[in-house]
This record gives sequence, structure tokens and C-alpha cells, in this order.
Amino acid sequence: MRRTILLLSLVLITGGFTHAQVKTVAEYIEQVQAISNRADLKTANDYIDRNHAEILREWIAITEINAPSGHEQERAKYIERLLRAYHLNDVHYDSAGNLIAVRKGTGGGPVIVFDAHLDTVFQPGLQIKATVRDGKVYAPGIGDDTRNVEALLATIRALNEAKIKTQGDLIFVFTVEEETTFKGVNNYVKENKGKIDHYVALDGGYDSFTYAGIGINWYRHHFIGPGGHTRSRTPPYSATLPLARAVERIYQLTVPANPSSNLNIGMLGGSEVVNAKAADAWFTVDLRSTSNDVLADLESKIKTILDEEAAKAGMTVKTDVISRTPAASIPGHRESYLVRLSEAVHRVMGFDPQIGNAGSNNGNVALLAGISAISTGAGPCDGSHSLAENCEIEPLYKGIKKVMLLEVALAGEAQ
Ligand SMILES: [Zn+2]
Repeated sequence: MRRTILLLSLVLITGGFTHAQVKTVAEYIEQVQAISNRADLKTANDYIDRNHAEILREWIAITEINAPSGHEQERAKYIERLLRAYHLNDVHYDSAGNLIAVRKGTGGGPVIVFDAHLDTVFQPGLQIKATVRDGKVYAPGIGDDTRNVEALLATIRALNEAKIKTQGDLIFVFTVEEETTFKGVNNYVKENKGKIDHYVALDGGYDSFTYAGIGINWYRHHFIGPGGHTRSRTPPYSATLPLARAVERIYQLTVPANPSSNLNIGMLGGSEVVNAKAADAWFTVDLRSTSNDVLADLESKIKTILDEEAAKAGMTVKTDVISRTPAASIPGHRESYLVRLSEAVHRVMGFDPQIGNAGSNNGNVALLAGISAISTGAGPCDGSHSLAENCEIEPLYKGIKKVMLLEVALAGEAQ
């Protein structure tokens, strides 16, 4: 009895997150295999298999409602109507516009959040029409992140059909503005921080998952000079000159492969006309790393280059930080309960998962708040953020079963 109390208090203090209580992956595989062998799980999987056509139809229907970041309401309404028919305990919007559906457990279990984002990167007014050929479905947004929105809806129906009860609560959060500002997840995590045991962000992914988030800093650097007509006295030059020199030097910086890091200069601009020197020449930098130290180091080296080149040309530098998302990791998380159990779920489903630390999605925000989180997804897709985006159809059904197994394994057996 005492032992139980002791263990229980340890769980309360740590949120079930210490090495002491974490089993081996092999032990979790045994546990998850037993869940997957249950008759009710088989009933739920059969339901998925019987409804391939319906799932594909609904997946396409949701995709065809474009939902640019900040304009998710129409798509959210469509999904809300579906959720209202599922006899859930609660369906509501929060103050950020996230659509939240609660499937309560029998009590005393953990609170598990499954998140898929509603928004797309495509401009308002884009008419989307999906086409199916050669086992694939083509449409902008079909994969990112509509495949995972559909996966969540299908799992709820399957759990209901098989009358599966869990001990913990399953909270399905359809988030807004993942692609731009993380506004949806930021708001959700802020309002619910102490109440979430585990967070699963479904975004991208199929046979792999991530347990930490890559840091991403976006900057717009400006060289500010006097400008003038092409024939005005030179020097000073157009502000494009220090820009060109700086870009060249920035690309010569060593960007480490380990920890995984990237640097990209994707946009630049200067004068609006041919016959003027740019008074403001600018370029963007997209800096990424799984290490915040690397981010800080590259940021300061870039600043030195900018200052030196500006001084050489007699100009000044102005830097706008477009956005900053720190690398998100929790010490020891690779060997945590959530990560090991998730590996077991993938293995029981027949996957040999890559387990990465460079996720870039809503999971980062949960991790930054100290919540144990992973990100994965329900199907293999290609060409995300492009008009040629497409997904393989058949694997989605297996991906949906994987998500469902993860839901049941994490929320625990009803007591
Ligand atoms: Zn996404």
C-alpha cells in the first residue's frame, strides 16, 4: 500500500515522466501488442477497412474547403458539424478559434491531446479541386494537414463504433494558424498548460516521429544608404553592393550538420526601378538548428558581417526579426514514457520508425512549455506547400489505425 502511495505521489510530481517508471521499448511492445489484439480494437480496425470510400470522400471534401491561416472558419464549421454527430462530451471553440472536441475517459487517467491544424498556406479564394489517379490523391493541402484532420475524425468514429472506452480523456484540437504564427497552439497551451499530460501533434509524418523541435529564426536584414539616381556621384553605391558582399560571406559560414542546422537566403530586393540606387536593399535569412547555441552563434556572426559590410560602404544596417521559435527539447525526453511507447506503437504497426529531433510544428510549442510531446502523421504525402501536393491513398488507412492505437495506448484501458 505504502509502495503504491509512494509511486503515485512520484507520478503526480513528475507527470509520469521519470526514468524510474519508464519501461523498455520491448515491454511497451508487449503491452501495445496486447491492446492491438483486443476484440474491440479489431472491431474498430474493421470499421476503418469497411469505410475506405467514405474516408476518402470526406478527406477530399475537407481539403476542397481552402483554409488559409487566419481564415479557417468555413473549414472549422464543416468539421464542427461532423463532431456534433459523434456524441462527444464537449465541442467548442476557444478564444483563438481552435475547434476542440473532448472524448472523456472513465476517470483517473491521463489527459492526452491530439492536434491537427486546420490552416493551409494557400491564398484566399483559391479554388481547390482534388483529382485521384494511380492510387494517389492530388490537391493543395491534401496532406498538410488535412490527412491528419481526417485521421482524427475517422478514429473518433471507429472508437465509437467499437464502443471503446479509455481511462484518460482524449482531447482533439483542430488548431488555427500553425503555418504562420503558432497562434492557435500558443493559445491552447497557455490556457491548458497544467492540465495536459501528453501532446501529440499530427502534422506530416507516417512511419516516423519526432520528439524535439528545431529552432527557427526568420530575419529581414536591410542595408540603408542614401540612394539616388544612377548618375549621382558615386560612391556611395547602391545599397545592393554591401548586400551582395554580405550574402556571399554569409554563405561561407560553417553551418554544422550535427547538431542539424540550416541557413537559407530566400528573398531579396532593392530599388523599385532600374535607374535608381537602392536606398534600402534587403534580404531574408531563414536560420534553423536543433541547438539554440548554434542559432545564437550564427546570428552573431551574421550581425558582424552585416556591420562590417555596411561600414565599408558607409551605410547602416536595420534588422527586422520576422519570427523566432527556439529549439525545443526536454532533457531525457528521448528515453521518456511517451517516446518509448510511441516507438512501440510504430513497431507493433510494422514500422521501423525514424525517431527525429527536428520537428517543426505545433509540437514545438508544447515542448517549449515543458509538456511531453511528439509529432507524427497518418500518411505519406509529397509536395507540401505546393499546388502539386499529393498523397498516397491506401497507406492512410493504416496510418489511421496507427493513430487510433496511439490514442488507446496513451489514454489507457478503461477501469
Ligand atoms: Zn503542417
